[in-house]
Amino acid sequence: MTAHHPFDISGRTAFVTGSSRGIGLALARGLAVAGCEVVLHGMDPARCKDAATALAEETGASVHAVPFDITDAATVRAGVAEVVATLGSVDILVNNAGIQRRHPLVEFPVEEWDEIVAINLTAPFLIAQQIAPSMISAGRGKIVNIGSVQSQLARPHITPYSASKGGVVMLTRGLCADLAALGIQVNALAPGYIRTELTRALVEDERFSAWVRERTPAARWGEVDDLVGGLLFLCSPAADFVNGQVLYIDGGMTAVI
Ligand code: NDP
Repeated sequence: MTAHHPFDISGRTAFVTGSSRGIGLALARGLAVAGCEVVLHGMDPARCKDAATALAEETGASVHAVPFDITDAATVRAGVAEVVATLGSVDILVNNAGIQRRHPLVEFPVEEWDEIVAINLTAPFLIAQQIAPSMISAGRGKIVNIGSVQSQLARPHITPYSASKGGVVMLTRGLCADLAALGIQVNALAPGYIRTELTRALVEDERFSAWVRERTPAARWGEVDDLVGGLLFLCSPAADFVNGQVLYIDGGMTAVI
């Protein structure tokens, strides 16, 4: 009998949404280095294509770019069909693309609430729904939804974001209820405060940055590479009996007040 390493995911196919930059690109790089064939995704076609070319050169992996807007259900359907056609079947789906908007509660435009919910919550549901059939046929698959410390903790001025990321936890558990018996593991990975484009204004705000360092038991901002090991675990055979869980990678922020 051949012994397989419990963390070996070489030869798997992976689709990471919002992977043209930031956390998604770091997660896609981790999967490529681990031997996966990867589809990068984002909204801006040029940025997505450039990121795919650079990642293929850097890792030697097979990397494709399939950019499309995930705000609209019809565009999502067409885009995911192209992803499935590109990869043949999808072994690993990482629902990572997300946006943040900040306003005082009474001024929050409902259009921005709708946009946040569409991108952070509805799109992961639609994408999982469309990719599930090929995973069901294969009898295996890994879906990892990217949450946040705001999946559990609220802050002023970001109520729609917190609501959407709280929803990601129950989306994860709902998908687990539907898919676990079919050999598909669905889990969430919830980052703490990580330095990316999304948080650039906060990193540059000295007062806020000092608050993050004080509020985080590890006493620092997270880096995108802090998240890669956790993702590889959730995507590997080592996690074949890990279902419906949320892995917080946050330097201890959600564990300590
Ligand atoms: P970035 O803003 O750096 O990157 C966002 C990515 O999502 C980009 O690839 C962007 O594409 C893509 N995207 C955004 N909107 C759309 C859309 N409508 N259609 C298609 N693609 C879209 O974000 P981060 O890397 O910081 O965050 C990634 C995830 O991690 C998000 O879900 C976020 O909520 C979560 N998170 C982030 C934390 C942090 O501290 N940064 C903390 C906790 C959670 P394009 O390049 O074309 O714009």
